[in-house]
Amino acid sequence: MRSSLIGKIEKARRYAKEPGRVTLSGLTADFHGENAEHKLSYSDGKWSCTCSFFGQWETCSHVMALQEMFKLELPKEALASLPEE
Ligand SMILES: [Zn+2]
Repeated sequence: MRSSLIGKIEKARRYAKEPGRVTLSGLTADFHGENAEHKLSYSDGKWSCTCSFFGQWETCSHVMALQEMFKLELPKEALASLPEE
């Protein structure tokens, strides 16, 4: 029992170094902005943020920051509005 758990822990450590194995299908976050707190989510292929900029542009610095932070874990369509480098 114990030795098989140790095997799982070792496998988990190996997996944890391979972010390409995980694709987030959704996420929610509390974003501590410079001036205010914002609630963000990504679900059903759509981003949302409670900041006023998002309401007009459907993206904002908070969404862009999360896209950058989770570049390897988010599906391609979640990164669609990320500007080219
Ligand atoms: Zn925002």
